[in-house]
Amino acid sequence: MFDLSGKTALVTGGSRGLGRAIAVAFARQGADIAVNYRGNVQAADEVVAEIAALGRNAVAIQGDTSAGREACEAIVKAGIDGLGSVEILVNNAGITRDSLLVRMGVEEWDEVIGTNLGGPFWMTRAIARPMMKARRGRIINMSSAAGRMGNPGQANYAAAKAGLIGLTKTTARELASRGITCNAIAPGLIETDLTADLPAAATDALTGMTPLGYVGSVDDVAAAAVYFASDEARYVTGQVLGVDGGIVMGS
Ligand code: NAD
Repeated sequence: MFDLSGKTALVTGGSRGLGRAIAVAFARQGADIAVNYRGNVQAADEVVAEIAALGRNAVAIQGDTSAGREACEAIVKAGIDGLGSVEILVNNAGITRDSLLVRMGVEEWDEVIGTNLGGPFWMTRAIARPMMKARRGRIINMSSAAGRMGNPGQANYAAAKAGLIGLTKTTARELASRGITCNAIAPGLIETDLTADLPAAATDALTGMTPLGYVGSVDDVAAAAVYFASDEARYVTGQVLGVDGGIVMGS
């Protein structure tokens, strides 16, 4: 089940957190991995070494996914050059710049929209033609429960993550006839560096709203990504899977 042997995947923001867990989980299932990172080459090299120790091929690719069309095209090209192809794209890179909306500045808005929505758009734009030519592909977008239910202090983040769901569904519709699926994962509160600095009161409030009542792990999310990447998920596209302890229950 969920065998990814011989497949190739590019994971943005793959040097830590959810991206790292997804990269390693894919490699455990047999895939070769391009690990995109923005700044921390040492962390990216560690992930590459971990994947190599599993007997899989891995390359680290520096690149800023928020830097627009050319930057994303260069990341995709490096992935294809490094692995021979990229059959699975995980748009995972993301940031937070939290602020109440009446105080939110231009930079906080632009950076979060540019990274969390612009990045996945330009990465998808860059990978679409190679995947269409191959007549196969999997695109997995990392949305968030915040994009489905809103979250005080995260107008920028929630808007970007909700926009990413619109991008997911449109990509799914446009590329379906070429054998390409596109789905989103919407994690709730997951223990990573991104959430480490949250005040205890905020974490308690969120877990209090979560039916399962605890913070999730990166492996909970990686398992969902492995499923979407697999052949078994061939008939699943345009979907949003909450990995969130039940905080959002969509129809
Ligand atoms: P993280 O901060 O630990 O990791 C994010 C990674 O993305 C980092 O390695 C960072 O360097 C990279 N990155 C950021 N901007 C980039 C850019 N412009 N170009 C390339 N790489 C870039 O965070 P995480 O918790 O692992 O989050 C991963 C994704 O999951 C994000 O999109 C985040 O919004 C989403 N998410 C996380 C949670 C959670 O609770 N941790 C919940 C919902 C959604």
